[in-house]
Amino acid sequence: MTDEPFVILKDIAKRWNGQLGVEEISLEIAEGSFVALLGPSGCGKSTTLRLLAGLEAPDEGQIVINGRDVTTSAASDRNLSMVFQSYALFPHLSVAENVVFGLKVRRVPAPERQEKLQRALEITDLVGYENRKPGELSGGQRQRVALARAIVAGQRLCLMDEPLSNLDAKMRNAVRKDIKKLQRDLGITVVYVTHDQTEAMSMADVVVLMKDGRIVQAGSPEDLYNKPDTTFVAEFVGAPPMALINSAALKGFAEDQTIGLRTENVTIAPKGKGRLSCVVRESEFLGAETMIGLEHENATGLTVMMPGLALKEEGEPIDIAFNDSDLHVFDAQGNRVLAT
Ligand code: ADP
Ligand code: MG
Repeated sequence: MTDEPFVILKDIAKRWNGQLGVEEISLEIAEGSFVALLGPSGCGKSTTLRLLAGLEAPDEGQIVINGRDVTTSAASDRNLSMVFQSYALFPHLSVAENVVFGLKVRRVPAPERQEKLQRALEITDLVGYENRKPGELSGGQRQRVALARAIVAGQRLCLMDEPLSNLDAKMRNAVRKDIKKLQRDLGITVVYVTHDQTEAMSMADVVVLMKDGRIVQAGSPEDLYNKPDTTFVAEFVGAPPMALINSAALKGFAEDQTIGLRTENVTIAPKGKGRLSCVVRESEFLGAETMIGLEHENATGLTVMMPGLALKEEGEPIDIAFNDSDLHVFDAQGNRVLAT
C-alpha cells in the first residue's frame, strides 16, 4: 500500500446533448475502503459509477485507477468487477455456470475455475446450490450468486449499483452485512451506489452525498451526521432527518438563519417551560420507542422520541426544550455557519 489513492476522479463532467449528467466530480478513494455514492434518484450516482467502470466516457476530466490513467480505456481494461441491481444472471445456466461464466470466457483452466468457484460459494454461503437455476433461488440467494461472480473475478476494485434494492427489508439487512464482511475479508475496494441513507451510513467508510449531478459532501458517516455542510445534507442523512427551524422562532440568532436540531437532542418540557410550543402531528410506535412528530409554524421535521409505547393524540400541545450546544446553524443559503 502506498499513500497514493487507489482511484482518482478529477473534475469529471458528463452531458447528454448538452443536458447535465454529472459535473465537477472530484474524488479520491483509498485502497481497501468502502465508498458509498448516496443521493436522491437522478442525482448522478449511476452515471458516476458507469464513468468509473468505463461504460460511459466523460466529456471532461480524468480517471486514474491504481496509478494508471484509464480515462479512455475500455471497461474490460480497467480490472474491476461490477454488481448491478438486476442480478444479470443467465436464467438457463446453473449457479455454478453463472459464477464461472467470465472465467470460462477468459479461458481459465477448469481446475482453477473449480477451485475459485468453490471458494466463492463458501464465502457467499451458496454451497449445495451449485446446480440450481436462478429461477429456483430466492432474491437474496440470486444476489449472492451475483456477488460470487464478482468475487471469482478476483479484482481489487468492485463497483455495485443498488445491489440490494430488489430484496425485502430483512434480506437487505442480511446481505448488507455479507457484503460488508466480504469487502473487509477480501480487502477489496468497493464503490457502492445507493439512494438509501441507512445503507450508506451503515456500510461505508466514506459517504459521498450527491445532488443535481454534483458532490455536496464527502466524509465519514459521523461527519455527515454530526457536521452537515448544508441543510440538504442535514435533511438527507439520518432517520428521522434533522429538524430545521427558522431563526425567527428562537432568541439569540441572526435573521434568516436556519437552525438544525436532531431528535435525540429534543426533550419534552413542562407546560410553558420549553423553548418551542408545538402540537402533535402524528405519533408512531416503533417498538423500543415512540416517535412523535410535532408541528410548529416555523419548523419542519420536528420529532421527539419517547421510550416504549407513548402514542399521543393529534393536536395535543407539547413544549420542547434543547441545548444551544446541540444546535446546527445554517445561513440563508443553507450553508453551515462555522462556530467561531
Ligand atoms: P441516479 O443513478 O443517481 O438515479 P443517474 O446517474 O442515472 O442518476 O442519472 C443522472 C442524470 O443523467 C439524470 O438526469 C438522468 O436522466 C441523466 N441520464 C442518465 N443516463 C442518461 C442517458 N443515457 N441519456 C440521457 N440522460 C441520461
Ligand atoms: Mg441509478
